[in-house]
Amino acid sequence: MRKNDIKPWVLRYEDVEEFYCSADVVICGYGGAGASAALEARRAGADVLVLERASGGGGATAMSSCEMYLGGSGGTAVQKALGLEDSTENMIAYLSECFGPNGDAEKIRLYAQGAAAHFDWAESLGVPYKREAIYERAVEPFGDESLLFTGNERAYPFNRVATPIPRGHVPSREGNQGGKVFMQALMARVEAEGVRVQADARVTALLQDDAGRVRGAVVKIEGRECAVEATRGVILSAGGFVMNSDMVADHAAHVLPYATPYGSPGDLGDGIQMGIAAGGNTVNMSEVFLSLAIYPPAKLTHGILVNAQGQRFINEDAYLARLAHYAVQQERQEVYLLVQNEDYEPSLYMERLRIAGTGDTIAEVEAEAQLPEGSLQATVAYFNRHAQQGEDPLFHKAPEWLKPLDKPPFALVSYCPREVKYPMGNERGYVMFTLGGLETLPTGEVLTAGGAVIPGLYAAGRTSAGLPRTASGYASGMSVGDATFFGRLAGKQAATR
Ligand SMILES: Cc1cc2nc3c(=O)[nH]c(=O)nc-3n(C[C@H](O)[C@H](O)[C@H](O)COP(=O)(O)OP(=O)(O)OC[C@H]3O[C@@H](n4cnc5c(N)ncnc54)[C@H](O)[C@@H]3O)c2cc1C
Repeated sequence: MRKNDIKPWVLRYEDVEEFYCSADVVICGYGGAGASAALEARRAGADVLVLERASGGGGATAMSSCEMYLGGSGGTAVQKALGLEDSTENMIAYLSECFGPNGDAEKIRLYAQGAAAHFDWAESLGVPYKREAIYERAVEPFGDESLLFTGNERAYPFNRVATPIPRGHVPSREGNQGGKVFMQALMARVEAEGVRVQADARVTALLQDDAGRVRGAVVKIEGRECAVEATRGVILSAGGFVMNSDMVADHAAHVLPYATPYGSPGDLGDGIQMGIAAGGNTVNMSEVFLSLAIYPPAKLTHGILVNAQGQRFINEDAYLARLAHYAVQQERQEVYLLVQNEDYEPSLYMERLRIAGTGDTIAEVEAEAQLPEGSLQATVAYFNRHAQQGEDPLFHKAPEWLKPLDKPPFALVSYCPREVKYPMGNERGYVMFTLGGLETLPTGEVLTAGGAVIPGLYAAGRTSAGLPRTASGYASGMSVGDATFFGRLAGKQAATR
């Protein structure tokens, strides 16, 4: 990491001559994590000031569908109303499988223990959740349902270690407006309960005293840099760094050729850079969420994904981030979906996909797509032989998605990142956002590389390395769920120190 490459991200507290204002808890960034932290800090009795660089709060959280990954404790109110039981152990088993050695076991445990109550908190803000679920293979509800499977729960290897249960909770609102609905309700409550919010205020540095305690921040308001004192702590909740191309090049250069940034304009890594300058350690910085949206429509899952050697590399019923994680590991990121006519429909989330080959036989498709002779034919013959028995010995795709590819015509559709384009962006590639950040305790306290707590400094949301750690185990809802859940813990902790 290039520290302080543009300006000092930390200034000496002792050098400040005059403070513009003071608060017990100062929060940098008014998105999901910051607003949740503000509300809890206020409820714990602190005087709270939120500083937001944009002209209003919301951040990436308001842009999102606000799917939150929640369950455990017997089930959330929505799961229970639908007769679904979800134990905390089941959720821990699933989340632990998701992130493997990258995961933070303590954060996973606390999250699974508190997620059902976190749902009650979200609903108590006035966010509408309907007691209805959609069980199809989808990314978000097509109607106003509030519950769906949003990850790999039903796919191998996750279905071997945990009982599949839907945990994606979405505000009930048609038209993908969940994030707006949620943030409007949350910010209304934050402001009604007496938190001071200053917009158009970019935090440019932390104030740290000679003993190492963070005691405030410097903020740019109307072109003037002002010092703000924080008597109990500063919470960095400024989002991730996906919009900072230098930082992405420093930490996750491997994704640059094939990924398009997906986030808010504020995802410039300010919070992470300030935290580093104050002595904080970063972890997981090279990991990103990536998406390869071959579905919906769900029936495309009957097809098989192959690489430039005509070979399969994954069970196609995995979640779109896991598909992307493995797709980009294929040579030249060449990946194709082979489908037969009865399953073919244009993908909902991808525009104008290139058909690399068509034909009445697999040999014709293979030749037109210029795959090595015999490669795709061997793959399909092997797949078909086992699919007839409802088996997939290589990748364990679930039986409901297994059927022989023997009804022509066939098409080989290119999902190579240099060729795909999502409807919401102009650039090509799989969309991405960052999953690395400051190393924190579950309470948000920022740690040094030696594991010591930096007094007075907290971080949450994508400024920190939170619950979601890899695209291979990601499920929709893990980021907003994490940002708001651990944002609340950071707010409580900062207020009471
Ligand atoms: C289109 C889209 C859809 C998504 N859908 C989902 C979903 O359904 N579920 C899910 O879990 N995840 C989803 N994600 C990811 C998720 O939205 C984010 O990872 C998460 O909301 C981040 O929350 P946060 O509080 O860390 O950051 P944000 O909500 O982005 O808040 C950070 C705030 O800090 C401000 N800020 C930045 N720098 C400064 C500074 N120097 N001074 C002051 N303020 C500053 C920013 O302007 C911003 O308002 C989606 C992402 C996108 C882009």
